[in-house]
Amino acid sequence: MAVVVLDKICKTYGNKFHAIKDLSLTIEDGEFLILVGPSGCGKSTALRMIAGLEEITSGTLSIGGQDVEDLPPKDRDIAMVFQNYALYPHMTVFDNIAFSMKLAGKSKAEREKRVNEIAKVLQLETLLQNKPAHLSGGQRQRVAMGRAMVREPAAFLMDEPLSNLDAKLRVQMRAEIAGLQRQLGVTTIYVTHDQTEAMTMGDRVAVLKGGVLQQVDTPKALYHHP
Ligand code: ADP
Ligand code: ADP
Repeated sequence: MAVVVLDKICKTYGNKFHAIKDLSLTIEDGEFLILVGPSGCGKSTALRMIAGLEEITSGTLSIGGQDVEDLPPKDRDIAMVFQNYALYPHMTVFDNIAFSMKLAGKSKAEREKRVNEIAKVLQLETLLQNKPAHLSGGQRQRVAMGRAMVREPAAFLMDEPLSNLDAKLRVQMRAEIAGLQRQLGVTTIYVTHDQTEAMTMGDRVAVLKGGVLQQVDTPKALYHHP
């Protein structure tokens, strides 16, 4: 089943600059799709349109079978993981992860159950009472993922989540995120300018250049037919 469907999406800034041109892309249930390309090619713009943070100039977008062009971010069945983690510094790991459940009025018992499930998957069980300042970069990244997972979204959107990490941690987190994605089976769109991430982490890679989709294929096929 297709979870995210982009059909001839265009984005124009200031009536003339075409940041995205006729982008059509289908992301299947459980798939890990990487959107890759050089800086300025339109990756963030594309992801932000899916998230509802940027208006679509023309074209249609559906998420989980629902047309969402006119829905605000909070009404779209997605969760976004940013590169700077955007954790609340004054809250514990538990409260960071539980935050959206609290906003949604879930009971304490429900919050505890769900956060504990997530903490187990992400191996954060012993860190739930810590504050972000006392975590490593990798642990913070996992908390950010936990916060996104808590709502059980139809799709995860990740915008260069590893770009602020040092090289060693980045390599470790590549494997960790790819492993988690497979374990959770959550449909994921992952934006990066890093070719190695693109070729090692995802099920399929979409290559964007100058706002135009060049190729969409498995890493293996792209490796043999670049
Ligand atoms: P990437 O994420 O691939 O680096 P972006 O999506 O950030 O690319 O940007 C694509 C192009 O659109 C760039 O040329 C960028 O300068 C331009 N752009 C992005 N946001 C705006 C904006 N708000 N107004 C005008 N141009 C923008
Ligand atoms: P990145 O390349 O990391 O995606 P950028 O530094 O290109 O981010 O953009 C940061 C912010 O500035 C974004 O909100 C983007 O929409 C906006 N932006 C980027 N390019 C332009 C531009 N030419 N004019 C106006 N806003 C822009």
